[in-house]
Amino acid sequence: MSIYEKYETVVGLECHIQLLTRTKMYSNDAAEYGAMPNTNVSVVSLGHPGTLPRVNKRAIEFAVKLGIATKSTITTENQFARKNYFYADLPKGYQITQDKTPICTGGFISFKMKDGSEKQINLIRIHMEEDAGKSMHDIDPFETLIDLNRAGTPLLEIVTQPDFRGGEEAYAYLNEVRKLVRYLDVCDGNMEEGSLRCDANISVRLKGSKEYGKRTEVKNMNSFRNVQRAIDYEVKRQIDIIEAGGEIAVETRSFDAVNGTTFSLRSKESANDYRYFPEPDLQPVMVTKEYIETVKNNLPPLPNDLYEKYTKELKLNDYDASILTELKEIALYFNELISHTKNYKAAANWVMVNVKSFLNENAVHIDNFPVKPKAIADIIALIDAGKIGHTAASQKLFPALIANPSKSAETLATELDIIQNSNSNEIQALVEQAVNKFPEKITEYRNGKVGLLGLFVGEVMKLSKGKADPKVVNLLVKEQLEKN
Ligand code: MN
Repeated sequence: MSIYEKYETVVGLECHIQLLTRTKMYSNDAAEYGAMPNTNVSVVSLGHPGTLPRVNKRAIEFAVKLGIATKSTITTENQFARKNYFYADLPKGYQITQDKTPICTGGFISFKMKDGSEKQINLIRIHMEEDAGKSMHDIDPFETLIDLNRAGTPLLEIVTQPDFRGGEEAYAYLNEVRKLVRYLDVCDGNMEEGSLRCDANISVRLKGSKEYGKRTEVKNMNSFRNVQRAIDYEVKRQIDIIEAGGEIAVETRSFDAVNGTTFSLRSKESANDYRYFPEPDLQPVMVTKEYIETVKNNLPPLPNDLYEKYTKELKLNDYDASILTELKEIALYFNELISHTKNYKAAANWVMVNVKSFLNENAVHIDNFPVKPKAIADIIALIDAGKIGHTAASQKLFPALIANPSKSAETLATELDIIQNSNSNEIQALVEQAVNKFPEKITEYRNGKVGLLGLFVGEVMKLSKGKADPKVVNLLVKEQLEKN
């Protein structure tokens, strides 16, 4: 057994998600990304004395949405608190956050791991707060520049229990969080633009031990993959220190993505004292049962519920169900499609293969995809009725529909001249013609060379110029060969 196998990894994650509200958490300054620096800053964002904060209603709604989706308990009386610290990008000298009454407690997020196993991560809390401004150290060679556009933008902080047993679980969890906030339309989930940020608290302990080891906090990981890499590196580093007889320094570390390592930022030995106290300028926000009910009734379908429906009700396999629920827009497209067809497997294939490849190859977002789900259902119906073949449908009809989305599938199929002949009488004549062409092959077939069936079918297809329904042809050729 390697030394690493003696230890168990214990990780908890703190994620900040930036909310897709139009305005900031406590003022009506615009909360947009990418504006000219310091243009979305009124006296409130600048922390001028005497200004008063007001709570953004939409941010409360978003917090409740996420709370319901994670099966959290939602707090009735929500107080805000001041977290005091000094920093150049924090003009007020404090952050308005929640301390003793986070809007959500408990709750969990569950997801599938690559090997198909299910993992559940329990949440300690989700609370509302505001973001600080941004200090930029890499634009001017001598000065640090400050952009206060971000100061006051609404955040939800999701704090998990130390339930992760490795980097891969953290990676899968973050994917699930992103999927969830995108389904809920509360956050764009874009880690590169900083709208989803994550810190990891990492420690190790001997397997079977009940006590936690000393932990480090790792920051500045700007992709899900880097969170996984940072955890895996940090776990190995800690085990190496312990095995060499050393002790883990309780500290904040930063991830170096180039080298895949972590390095010390500052010691945590002296605990921060933020002097939390209730925000005197804000009334507590009351979240009533009726309000929660209203939000619940307007909740969009959630990925896990759709997954359940697709596998249990529609009997799709796990792979299809997870691909179809990966992106909300794809899932909604598929949802509408299956309201027009009962052939769920075919519907899944059309979306996963034809629609998705078109979107990928042409870099088109599904919102701009011209073919309506109903038209895909019409194609499926034409195939199922034997009127067109699958190959002609995907190679000719589908591109034609994309070019002429206002025409019906059937009209286009007629114009393309791909409607199959399934008239048995007409096909029967061609079958006889084809079979009579190879009298010696008939004998061979009857003597057991059944593979010759393909030869006759191919001949009929040729005679029909590819327009005979292959299913009907197969049947009739077999009948013909087995006569007498
Ligand atoms: Mn925070």
